[in-house]
Amino acid sequence: MKVLVTGGAGYIGSHTVLELLNQDIDVVVVDNLVNANVESLKRVEQLTGKPVDFVQADVRDSRALDAVFAEHSISAVIHFAGLKAVGESVAKPLDYYSANVYGSTVLAQAMAAAGVHRMIFSSSATVYGEGAQAPYVETMPRGVTSNPYGTSKAMVEQVLTDVANADPAWSVVLLRYFNPIGAHESGQIGEDPQGIPNNLMPFIAQVAVGRREQLSIFGDDYDTADGTCERDYLHVVDLAKGHVKALQATTHSGTHVYNLGTGTATSVKQMVHAFERVNNVQIPYTIAPRRAGDLAAFWANADKAATELDWRAEKDLADMVRDTWRWQQQNPNGYI
Ligand code: NAD
Ligand code: UDP
Repeated sequence: MKVLVTGGAGYIGSHTVLELLNQDIDVVVVDNLVNANVESLKRVEQLTGKPVDFVQADVRDSRALDAVFAEHSISAVIHFAGLKAVGESVAKPLDYYSANVYGSTVLAQAMAAAGVHRMIFSSSATVYGEGAQAPYVETMPRGVTSNPYGTSKAMVEQVLTDVANADPAWSVVLLRYFNPIGAHESGQIGEDPQGIPNNLMPFIAQVAVGRREQLSIFGDDYDTADGTCERDYLHVVDLAKGHVKALQATTHSGTHVYNLGTGTATSVKQMVHAFERVNNVQIPYTIAPRRAGDLAAFWANADKAATELDWRAEKDLADMVRDTWRWQQQNPNGYI
């Protein structure tokens, strides 16, 4: 079996490619490298001892996609490619709608033309919107999203649902990720953000390694146990394995939606203290104003993935912070 992985050189993509290869599933990656380094795939090849076919192309380039489908006998597509920075999406909405929404439609058209009708799509817990009550369950409707990134994910969910409704040949899986962190336990692949990290975990790791002076905690006056925001952090290797499970379990027609999270919430302060305790390092921090658009607390109800995909997050917070730190220490400046 061969799978096309778009965005496969990126953070979640590279970990998923590794897990696919470990299951003897062949992979071809399409990535334009706008937010990745092809070194990630070289390391995946070293770790697995297996080759990865790599095509540097944009998912909006239908000719490039047609060539990939003509050259390879592809059974399914795992679609990670897209832009993901919330703040940037507010400043550059057209870039986000183009890469994420238009990119997904071009990809789906190329798939249909090639007779490939199975897609697993990287969605996000953000589609539950601002008013939803945690824990989030798949039966809840999509809510009002607060930025173009979140809106683009909700739009793609709808586009793919419509495609599956129109033609029973299609099987679409919408995986709603909560907060992936961590790195492969080898320390060879991990998250390599460009510039100043937007997300909590890479920021903490860069403070720990001395690249940044201190962490700013965005608000400690939320209605949570310690006043800082709570999220459902899951290990990226667990998340990657969720894609393999989804690929194996969802061959049937229609649209299938799953939360991928642990079902537990961790506050920003708890995360900082866990990183310090497990790794025996200091993370200096200061309390800063709230970040616009942040929700106080949300986490997953992950029962559906357990029942239908036989998937559960297996790694705990200590694994997440330990593996992040190993990756950061071994690669203080990322893949460069
Ligand atoms: P990432 O930026 O590391 O990976 C995305 C990859 O897609 C990169 O390798 C990038 O070069 C590539 N890419 C971007 N636009 C492209 C285009 N037009 N054509 C071809 N390749 C393109 O991000 P990630 O954290 O690995 O996220 C993967 C997917 O999961 C994204 O769709 C993201 O929105 C989604 N997601 C991520 C998170 C998270 O917290 N990391 C949470 C929920 C959903
Ligand atoms: N956060 C923080 N300082 C940072 C980055 C993030 O306090 O430098 C907080 C942020 O306000 C949120 C939590 O950490 O409450 C998780 O943020 P992240 O951006 O990692 O994930 P998301 O906002 O997508 O849930």
